[in-house]
Amino acid sequence: MTVSDTVVADLIRQGLTARAIRQQCGASYNLTADVRRRYQLPRVTSAGPARTIAETLALYTEAYGRGHLRWTGPTRGRTPVLMAESKRYNARRLIFRRHFGCEPIGYVRTVCLAPGCLAADHIADDVSRTIPAGTENAITYLINKGASDWQIACHTGAAGRTVNRLRNQLKDTPHGP
Ligand SMILES: [Zn+2]
Repeated sequence: MTVSDTVVADLIRQGLTARAIRQQCGASYNLTADVRRRYQLPRVTSAGPARTIAETLALYTEAYGRGHLRWTGPTRGRTPVLMAESKRYNARRLIFRRHFGCEPIGYVRTVCLAPGCLAADHIADDVSRTIPAGTENAITYLINKGASDWQIACHTGAAGRTVNRLRNQLKDTPHGP
């Protein structure tokens, strides 16, 4: 099997171990070592292989009960933390972001009865816990909270023009409805 040097060099740069590289493209340990030397790339230590966020989440979480998710990874105080792709993340906020596709507003808390549960649909930010019923009420509430259009669209599923219309209405009535 012939594997091009540049492919191997790319995988090394992504932080894969020699073993992961062999699994991915079939490059032998010798070839990977040789490429590493010729391209002068740093060695990935076995103590800290670079994992992707998704891989690290899968490694540190465990499903149990009725759709709950337990954190088995490192914590800081009571906050589950995750190191991946050279960054530190608050796992609760990270799971929220990945599930809802936007930045949470305020604190992300567990809303099911299992303490510390991290299942994506068992956590909520300040807005999803307190948001009023009805799309227009919810949008007005979020505008008054200073949320961005993007955050409003994400939390309510509203179209941009609906948000704009309500923003303009609120401007016209500075003392509120
Ligand atoms: Zn739960």
